[in-house]
Amino acid sequence: MRSVRSIRAGAEALRGHCPFCLIVEGEASADVVHSSDRVLAFRDTNPQAPVHILLIPKEHVTSVRELGEGQASMLVELLRAATHLARAEGIDQHGWRLVTNVGADAGQSVPHLHFHLLGGRRMRWPPG
Ligand code: 5GP
Ligand code: ZN
Repeated sequence: MRSVRSIRAGAEALRGHCPFCLIVEGEASADVVHSSDRVLAFRDTNPQAPVHILLIPKEHVTSVRELGEGQASMLVELLRAATHLARAEGIDQHGWRLVTNVGADAGQSVPHLHFHLLGGRRMRWPPG
C-alpha cells in the first residue's frame, strides 16, 4: 500500500503536467467564466453544444472515483456553480446536461475531474 507521502508526491508530479492544473495555475490560457476558492469553470476548446463549459476542482483530483469525504463541500459548490452558469448562459429554462466521464470506456481524456455543462441544443439519450 502506498504511503500518504508517496501519493502526495505522485499528485505533485502530475500537477506539473496536468493540462487543467496548468489552467488553474495560470500557466495555460482558458476562457474562464467562473472562479472561486475551490472551483474553476471555463469554456471547452472543442464545444459539442452551443454552451459547453467545463467545471473543475482547483485541487487535482483524477475523477469522481478518487473523491473523498473532504471534497463533499467542494462538490456541492461545483454543482451550484453549474446551476448559476446555466442561468447566466440562458439555458436554464430549456434544459441542460451535466456529465462526467470516468476512465477509458467513458472516454475520459483529461485525468483531472471535470463536469461538462452542455446546453443550447436538444440532447439525445442514450449518449453515444
Ligand atoms: P473528457 O473527454 O476527458 O471527458 O473531456 C475533456 C474535455 O476537455 C474535452 O471536451 C476537450 O475538448 C477539453 N479540453 C482538453 N484540453 C483542453 C484545454 O487545454 N482547454 C480547454 N478549455 N478544454 C480542453
Ligand atoms: Zn490536474
